[in-house]
Amino acid sequence: MSGYVEESLANGPGGPRAVIWTQGCQHACKGCQNPQTWDTDKVIELISADDLAAKIMSNPNHRGATFSGGEPFLQARGLAQVSRIIREKKGLNTVCYTGFTYEELIGTRAPDAALEFLAEIDLLIDGRYVESLKSSDPSAHLWRGSSNQRLIWLKPDFLYAERPFQGNVTEIHVSPNGAVVFTGFGGQEFQV
Ligand code: SF4
Repeated sequence: MSGYVEESLANGPGGPRAVIWTQGCQHACKGCQNPQTWDTDKVIELISADDLAAKIMSNPNHRGATFSGGEPFLQARGLAQVSRIIREKKGLNTVCYTGFTYEELIGTRAPDAALEFLAEIDLLIDGRYVESLKSSDPSAHLWRGSSNQRLIWLKPDFLYAERPFQGNVTEIHVSPNGAVVFTGFGGQEFQV
């Protein structure tokens, strides 16, 4: 993985959520916020499915996990396993961002284990980021960077169980070692 934060409310409904950024993405969207995650040969942190699930579950406040990118579906088999473990052991749900469209993920050229991973996901947020379709209005296209991306509720119960969400926000997480992570879809710009 290329990044991890605890207790996020900005990366999908039903928080607090653990957010895991995977490493490696081939979509090369113009204006991507995380181009450092594109290199598929670069290893930032190697972690087993069991250990990642344990890390997510170690925070009792977590109600789910969000996988973001990079492109999570390049590691679909391992992330399916993580999602299965956290659901079975703690009842935690899974939100997943992907640059693929849903149709690509169920098609003949889908990445390895895509269907296995889809079966574990509650909410899929699909499609490449399209810079010209970005809105600076925080209430526009919730949890998404551009309006072409879709919220696909693969487990409809999850939709009805969650509280209303008023608008996109951007969070600033400061880790114990001083690292600062900006995350979310609030449309704000920061200088550090
Ligand atoms: S899919 Fe996401 S991580 Fe990959 S290039 Fe597009 S915006 Fe960036």
